[in-house]
Amino acid sequence: MSCKEIICIVCPMGCHLQVAENPNMEEVYEVAGNKCPRGKVYGINEMVNPTRVLTTTIKIENAPLKRLPVKTNGVVPKDKIFQCMEVINKVKVASPVNMGDVIVSNILNTGVDIVASRSMR
Ligand code: SF4
Repeated sequence: MSCKEIICIVCPMGCHLQVAENPNMEEVYEVAGNKCPRGKVYGINEMVNPTRVLTTTIKIENAPLKRLPVKTNGVVPKDKIFQCMEVINKVKVASPVNMGDVIVSNILNTGVDIVASRSMR
């Protein structure tokens, strides 16, 4: 039976999870080391479909800073992070921008938008 060690990143506690295939197959995976139920969900998702919130910056013109902080407004598959960055790195905006403005809609057809993390004028 294979067991994978994962650090839960759902909250600052950072529990060390052990996720193993479940031999009795009531559930496909069993999770140990979690201090709350969210850790179990996170551990199973990391095995089945790992996802991440992406935070980065993009170029902005006519603003006091050269780069605008942006993030996804949901999670994207971990294996699409680099493709998302290729799209984001081609984007340039001009101020004014308000926090929450959609910068890239439905990136890579994930159903997730790239939005401004702060306002800039
Ligand atoms: S298992 Fe629960 S308490 Fe532990 S890091 Fe994850 S969310 Fe936080």
